[in-house]
Amino acid sequence: MSVAAIILAAIAAVLAIRVAYHQLHLSALRSWLRRPRLDTLPPGRGVWEEALAELHRFLRGRDAEHESVVQALARFRAAVRALPDGVVILDRDNRIEWSNPTAAHHFGIDARRDLGQPVVNLLRQPDFVTYLADGEFGQPLVLRARDTTLSLRIIEFGEDQKLLNSRDVTTDERIDTMRRDFVANVSHELKTPVTVLTGFVETLSEDSIPLTPEQRSRYLAMMAEQARRMQRLVEDLLTLSALESSAAPADEEPIDMRVFLEQLADEARALSAGRHRVEATVHDDCRLLGSATELHSAFSNLVSNAVRYTPDDGTVRLAWRIGENGGVFSVSDSGIGIEARHIPRLTERFYRVDSGRSRETGGTGLGLAIVKHALTRHQAVLDVVSEPDRGSTFSAVFPPGRVLPPGEKQEAA
Ligand code: ADP
Repeated sequence: MSVAAIILAAIAAVLAIRVAYHQLHLSALRSWLRRPRLDTLPPGRGVWEEALAELHRFLRGRDAEHESVVQALARFRAAVRALPDGVVILDRDNRIEWSNPTAAHHFGIDARRDLGQPVVNLLRQPDFVTYLADGEFGQPLVLRARDTTLSLRIIEFGEDQKLLNSRDVTTDERIDTMRRDFVANVSHELKTPVTVLTGFVETLSEDSIPLTPEQRSRYLAMMAEQARRMQRLVEDLLTLSALESSAAPADEEPIDMRVFLEQLADEARALSAGRHRVEATVHDDCRLLGSATELHSAFSNLVSNAVRYTPDDGTVRLAWRIGENGGVFSVSDSGIGIEARHIPRLTERFYRVDSGRSRETGGTGLGLAIVKHALTRHQAVLDVVSEPDRGSTFSAVFPPGRVLPPGEKQEAA
């Protein structure tokens, strides 16, 4: 064989080896591309080693980027899912693209089943259908369904997409109604005394109307009575507002219950002016931890009710005892009693069973609302047992933690 032939054969052999080397790497790369995963990327040799290392670095960077986008999206979805507001994403044809669990609860949407459904198939109320069709989304739409009120808002975003936002405003509405009722009630309570007072002031200041000294003093007495009525109302309103303005009483102290009951019984006797028998019994000597001002306000309202709603010659009994559930202050009377259907509503502001009798006896309709507030601030509950024409027992039950052993003086007694 000639030298030239040998050289040619050698070159051919080298080329064949090169081609095989590249083919081997290419086929490994091709089969990897069918399932391209970072951890299965084939190793390489020579120039392939460098190129594949470069590809590995690129893929690792892309995977990290992808992972961070996936995590951000998951965080965003979790946040929207946790929102107390309902969120439904609608496409350009108002079909549901996505909804969070609150929206599912508000509209009865099933996040999977209803995907792609036109939203008006699920929210059929004509008001909503018109709202969506009109495209005027400046003001929210209020939808009332059974015992829930929802405020809906549509926010347009992206390319022809919409976000339907729903908020449960049932409590806000209830508070609003309560506030309106309260203002109306207060105005109504003040109207009569103010009208009466103005009428008398005009009569008394009118020189052309001659009045006898008896008429004059009778009118003044009636004016004084109306002024007292307004004063009682304002005082009760101020007491209520003071009870509402802070979460807990600031001036708690151990209150000697024997002394407290005696004081309340004296007040009951003064109010009754001998028309009733008033008794006070302390079954267990101890001290009650609480605000003397607030508890006096609560207990004296119960005592005054017992006197006011008990006909002459009746009995009013005050008692303090330690029961199974804690300390119990009770006021029992042999008075007119209350029908069972009224009992759950007695602590509502201005709720009265008999408005005439309440006003005649100087009631403002706020007494038991004050009692409930003051007791709640002491973690105590009001219990009412009553029977028409037989009498009532109002009990304030305090948690055991508020009942302290008697002080030194009480113990010696
Ligand atoms: P009021 O100022 O009208 O007495 P309250 O809030 O103290 O207002 O009481 C609400 C209503 O509960 C009263 O109007 C009355 O009808 C009823 N009530 C309260 N205590 C008694 C009681 N001891 N006996 C009978 N009815 C009572």
